[in-house]
Amino acid sequence: MGYACPRCGGRVERGSSGGGALGVAALFGVVGVLVAGAVGPLRCERCGRIRRAEFAPSVRAEMVRNPVVLGASAVALVVVAVLVLVKLAEMR
Ligand SMILES: [Zn+2]
Repeated sequence: MGYACPRCGGRVERGSSGGGALGVAALFGVVGVLVAGAVGPLRCERCGRIRRAEFAPSVRAEMVRNPVVLGASAVALVVVAVLVLVKLAEMR
């Protein structure tokens, strides 16, 4: 899924190739990639990274209301939490 860029009108997608996202992906593997894709920075293919504040209020409301993104983020976070707990239990 993507959004229209507020600067050039191009396509904006959630980037999973940023430094932070890569770190998360390295730490948590596939789940990390999913989390980074759900909460990662928005990136225009022409302008680069776009701050959420640059989007029109209606677009931001749509982002917040998007149940698929919210549901995927919640599920991914729960999975990560469970994996971390399992890892911690194995260390004892
Ligand atoms: Zn743009």
